[in-house]
Amino acid sequence: MIALSHISKSFGRNQVLQDISLNVNTGEVVVILGPSGSGKTTLLRCVNYLEKPGSGQIAVGDFQVDCSRARRGDILQLRRKTAMVFQQYNLFRHKTALENVMEALLVVKKLPAAEARKRSIALLEKVGLGAKLNEYPSRLSGGQQQRVGIARALALEPEVILFDEPTSALDPELVGEVLEVIRGIAREGITMIVVTHEMGFARDVANRVVFMDGGVIVEEGTPDEVFQHPKEDRTKQFLRRIT
Ligand code: ADP
Repeated sequence: MIALSHISKSFGRNQVLQDISLNVNTGEVVVILGPSGSGKTTLLRCVNYLEKPGSGQIAVGDFQVDCSRARRGDILQLRRKTAMVFQQYNLFRHKTALENVMEALLVVKKLPAAEARKRSIALLEKVGLGAKLNEYPSRLSGGQQQRVGIARALALEPEVILFDEPTSALDPELVGEVLEVIRGIAREGITMIVVTHEMGFARDVANRVVFMDGGVIVEEGTPDEVFQHPKEDRTKQFLRRIT
């Protein structure tokens, strides 16, 4: 479903991704772990070109882009196949929960308003916000705002959902409700890549865990392989520090 091949990325002289290759199969949940600054978010943002890789190839479904000569049309096509859930939710402040989800359907999918409305209500009900359709983000908790963000991502019917530390801006008591929604989506077989520090979630939900450090993939495997039987010293050190 997704093939990242030889992706490199620098910010000025700081090379943050070094020749990274990663494949994700249809329906797979891949969790990316690693210390702060290891390049996890940058890698995720490269998948839909929110960051432009310096070199490498990105394939999503049957569409492939060579990063050294990607055109605007290529980038738009890549973005249509992906949806991102952001750490800071990135909702429109002046739109209600319902309008935030509808926006994606009206603007991106060009659905008629009545159809967009019907689908958006169904998606908000699915993430447990059927009673908050007409609330503005400022009147929703962080967990509720993030669930709107997830409903919006689902509305796009992407081939893959990219989660960028979806719970790290939340108060601890709100993390569970958001992880529960993400768990539910994972069970439906939607392909996803999740950058997170939630080890319990990674253990339960990931089909594969990828450990990054210093802009490279140090190790990857099933949660059992990476958590119980890590092979690399850097992985062992990281796991000792956080558990
Ligand atoms: P992680 O998600 O693992 O914490 P990031 O991908 O956010 O790591 O960052 C990796 C490195 O890239 C860090 O050194 C960070 O300072 C740098 N970086 C990230 N985004 C930018 C940017 N827009 N401009 C300059 N440097 C950046």
